Amino acid sequence: MKNTNLDELYFYGGELGACYDTEKTVFRVWSPTADDVLLKLYNGNDFSTEKMEKNSQGVWEKTVNGDLDGRFYNYLIKNGEDYTEVVDIYAKSCGVNGKIGMVVNLSTTNPKNWCEEKTVKLDSPNKAVLYELHVRDFSSDKESSFENKGKFSAFLEENLTNSFGDKIGIDHIKELGVTHVHLLPIYDYATTDELSPNECYNWGYDPQNYNIPEGSYSKNPSDGKSRIYELKELISKLHENNIGVVMDVVYNHTYTLDNSGFNITVPNYYYRNFDDNFSNGSACGNEVATERKMVRKFIVDSIKYWAKEYKLDGFRFDLMGLYDIATINEICEEVTKINPDMIFYGEGWTGGESPLDENLRAMKKNAKSVPKMAMFSDDFRDSLKGDVFISENKGFVNGGLDLENSVKKAMIGGVFHPAILDEDKSWTDDTRQVVNYVEAHDNLTLWDKLYYSAVGKSPEERIKMDKLSAAAVFMSQGIAFMQAGQEFLRSKPLPNGEFAHDSYKSPDEVNSIKWENKHKYSDVYEYYKGLIALRKSNEIFSMKSGDEIRNCVKFGENLPKNIVEIIIDGKYHIILNASEEIYPVGVENNAKCEVFVDECRASNTGILTECSNLEVKPISALMFKIV
Ligand code: CA
Repeated sequence: MKNTNLDELYFYGGELGACYDTEKTVFRVWSPTADDVLLKLYNGNDFSTEKMEKNSQGVWEKTVNGDLDGRFYNYLIKNGEDYTEVVDIYAKSCGVNGKIGMVVNLSTTNPKNWCEEKTVKLDSPNKAVLYELHVRDFSSDKESSFENKGKFSAFLEENLTNSFGDKIGIDHIKELGVTHVHLLPIYDYATTDELSPNECYNWGYDPQNYNIPEGSYSKNPSDGKSRIYELKELISKLHENNIGVVMDVVYNHTYTLDNSGFNITVPNYYYRNFDDNFSNGSACGNEVATERKMVRKFIVDSIKYWAKEYKLDGFRFDLMGLYDIATINEICEEVTKINPDMIFYGEGWTGGESPLDENLRAMKKNAKSVPKMAMFSDDFRDSLKGDVFISENKGFVNGGLDLENSVKKAMIGGVFHPAILDEDKSWTDDTRQVVNYVEAHDNLTLWDKLYYSAVGKSPEERIKMDKLSAAAVFMSQGIAFMQAGQEFLRSKPLPNGEFAHDSYKSPDEVNSIKWENKHKYSDVYEYYKGLIALRKSNEIFSMKSGDEIRNCVKFGENLPKNIVEIIIDGKYHIILNASEEIYPVGVENNAKCEVFVDECRASNTGILTECSNLEVKPISALMFKIV
């Protein structure tokens, strides 16, 4: 049967999975193609198999009386001669390594005061300062004093310091001032053995069970409730400090294909194909057919579940160009009903060739069709530091030439501006749709990129480049984003003296955040912290519409090469000097200025000075207000 026929004949809009009640649990699985489905219900080491009844929509159902909280179960799906055992794709918890589903009474998984738990409120998405962090990297540094290294619980550990007395862990995140922690995948992923996670690191872009937290981050992965409870504790702790939590979701592909939960439950339905072959738009082996009705329902149900049950503050979509526009819009609409302050952003591209029509893809060039969704600005990233796929390629800060217009455009969130002399390459006119960054988990860290691209430059000169990049990110229009550890020059050194381009399965030595470096690079850290404070205390960095920007923003004219000046409201000046020369500002009056950012210092408190004294040092930023 063709997959589209399944949509036409068998769409089912009701609740699926193990629907728990203290008196009974109703199991429902959608599998219109199956010849038979049995419920395999475990009781300790024993199990019983229960016959399920199929309704006209292809849903197999079985009600089991009694309190089934904590009971393990799977389905046995018969296609042709054989039954294949599979974890419920809607399962909310599981046994160790996600091989067996678990019925769970969620009300027993809540930390204290969870019901009163509040998500983080923002006036606008572009007020967010996002901090991208892998749960394990946060605390896996061998030199660090975390008790719960690599676990969700490490986020609860307060009053920790490095050997120099600098705050680390959650106290550090609070001190830095970011608004949201964006966690790399926290759903159950496949390749890290949950019983010995130290031996097989993974970022987690290898999804196994979408509605279950990853067990390797739990202190007790064999107990299906611990992972839920401990993740909720993490979220609660961040919320207590008014820090939101963003979940990185990867519905675009699954780790396995033939024996994935999707493919056993309804063969060939959940994945896209070119004729008879599965397609691979993710470059990870397969791609999920988000546009099919029951696939879309699964994704929307799943995100709604996470938003509501875990009280999340945002979602980040991996390879979002593989999602169809209608699915993304339905997600945004439905999830906003649960939390009106929810933020959404994603990668507006694909990983490979996809059969999904380009006009239907939630990618950058169609950004206007998914108005609530923001997308990463690779334009910003590449114009500032150079092409991420060519290590030695230079951007504006590290010696690239003729990038002034690209940087101006990047700094105003990529919207059209008549003063920028290039053809209009704007993919949005709304800066709330733009995520500006110079470093993320993918590719070289900024510091390592500068090592390869700024050849012959001293560490002191490369630090200037790093600080100039950060100044650009935090003084730009759009949503500000950084990778954890970037604030003290995160590096991913390999044993051979090189640096990791793709550390998705590299050991802790490569990936961990080295907290001792907070002391070594305290100057850089203070600069980042000051920039974040400045951004948060000032409305001028969060203009929303293109019209507002075109009305309020002008650019300095006739400047020397490799210098960009952005003037907001006629009085705020942001100057990025990537040249080797001092640039005298030369404001033509006797006015006084308040300086918030210069080559040494960034702060939300200005220092008063005579405008005529102002100059921008080589490879540095200056931001001042004429008073
Ligand atoms: Ca797992």
